[in-house]
Amino acid sequence: MLRTHTNGELRLSDKGKTVTLTGWVQKNRKMGGMTFVDIRDRYGITQLVFNQEINPQLCEKANHLGREFVVQITGVVSERSNKNPNIPTGDIEIIVDDMNLLNQSATPPFTIEDETDGGDDIRMQYRYLDLRRNPVRANLELRHKMSFETRRYLDSLNFLEVETPVLIKSTPEGARDFVVPSRMNQGEFYALPQSPQTFKQLLMVSGFDRYFQIVKCFRDEDLRADRQPEFTQIDCEMAFVEQEDVLQTFEGLTKHLFKTIKNIDLQPFPRMTYADAMKYYGSDKPDTRFEMRFVELMDTLKGHGFSVFDQAEYIGGICVKGAAAYTRKQIDALTEFVKRPQIGAKGLVYARVGEDGSLKSSVDKFYSQDVLQKLKDKCKAETGDLILIISGDNTTKARKQLCELRLEVANQLGMRDKNKFSCLWVVDFPLLEWDEETKRFYAMHHPFTSPKPEDIALLTIDAGAVRANAYDMVINGVEVGGGSIRIHDSGLQKEMFRILGFTEQKAEEQFGFLMNAFKFGAPPHGGIAYGLDRLVSLFAGLDSIRDCIAFPKNNQGRDVMIDAPSTIDQEQLDELAISVKI
Ligand code: ASP
Repeated sequence: MLRTHTNGELRLSDKGKTVTLTGWVQKNRKMGGMTFVDIRDRYGITQLVFNQEINPQLCEKANHLGREFVVQITGVVSERSNKNPNIPTGDIEIIVDDMNLLNQSATPPFTIEDETDGGDDIRMQYRYLDLRRNPVRANLELRHKMSFETRRYLDSLNFLEVETPVLIKSTPEGARDFVVPSRMNQGEFYALPQSPQTFKQLLMVSGFDRYFQIVKCFRDEDLRADRQPEFTQIDCEMAFVEQEDVLQTFEGLTKHLFKTIKNIDLQPFPRMTYADAMKYYGSDKPDTRFEMRFVELMDTLKGHGFSVFDQAEYIGGICVKGAAAYTRKQIDALTEFVKRPQIGAKGLVYARVGEDGSLKSSVDKFYSQDVLQKLKDKCKAETGDLILIISGDNTTKARKQLCELRLEVANQLGMRDKNKFSCLWVVDFPLLEWDEETKRFYAMHHPFTSPKPEDIALLTIDAGAVRANAYDMVINGVEVGGGSIRIHDSGLQKEMFRILGFTEQKAEEQFGFLMNAFKFGAPPHGGIAYGLDRLVSLFAGLDSIRDCIAFPKNNQGRDVMIDAPSTIDQEQLDELAISVKI
């Protein structure tokens, strides 16, 4: 090794030792006859001292060290007269006897400090320098620990990590595939896996019983803050299990991670049906760190001459505790918020509960105090509370709007504390989702998800009402994982493809291998996949999953550091027999 210690290691108890350290120059300052240089590695920072009087030549060399130069020094650990309590090595410094310049550095385009002066774009371009910064490095360390603890937990339960291929045939998970042209089979393409779904099911047929893999998945989707074209799943599957077994096993994994990484003991996760999640939170991933559940108000507020409500299919409200002091201006801003095109509400009605318990609302002229008191009772509102109401002619849409409002108000009132964790299972998802545009059903989870046995008879009568043995793990309003019990009967799987609009030929072409495998003794099985990036960013309190990925893409799906995607040579195209038309 070129060093005897790291830069985070030495303490006062090492005083007098001769050590050799290596690292990058963080800063360099001359004070009187002394030169102080801080060197950094991933473990910390150590202060070096060069003395002009004792060794003028060496000191001169130190004066010429630039930021991010790479050095190796040998010297003696001594006690600092001016201690720095903010860093673990702050009690000591190294009186340097010898220095070897290992490499020079160009001036970095931004400062390598916790708070840097570099903007997003430049930091993405020089990501390898950004990764030298403590906060970014800490995220990757956390990610490593979480992967490691995941492996440890699953291994202790007999799960085997099995790799599945990256060049495959399309797996429908609801997004577009990335495709890779084949040189050896011209005109044909591989797809990159949206997930290893079919492979893990095949492994169950093979008798592997308990599988997991920390695996890259690829989805060609429009990107948002919590999406990347390639992302990582903790992908798992178990045979001979029912839904309850899967929930218990993976609630256990989440608890293990919270305990080992954050020393948090979690309570058993509550279960909420999809129907209730939509009814009370307008979302299948409710943020349950705070209450503010929806109250349905059709019975109370319809039929009193206020035409907006009288014509509505849905009227719902939330009671914001202690928010009666919201000013007119604040409420106007909330109204503007819900009217933004992305949210699309027509307006917002409010009612404040005053000191005397009476209600003052923005639609007072339509409602007697009697009716308003009923509203207050329904919302369990008390003096000082603010009731916010949204209505609409489409229940699903109106609920989504109320959901956005609920989250916005919670943001404003600081109810979304990143250090508080509220976990739950959302269960009983519908099996299918009707799409008005294409006039057909889509699988809500994916086509391999099993209907609830008691709902199977409904498949031919009212397919939209069939519930699935599907579940999501939700933490703080983030869908951290999702899975299902699978269909393991080739006949039922065939029927499912038919309902999803596949012709028999198309189903055979795309999934013949799976239906065939099911003919050879497929065990009952089910599983789940966690989004590792989301889970890590939740643990780290990050707003974007990008910050816990070593080399992420920007929101145009570009890697600006290596400049990908990019064009390829004509020669390469010719080999693939591909012509490009733009
Ligand atoms: N393959 C599924 C997904 O990526 C997860 C699962 O059903 O296990 O969402």
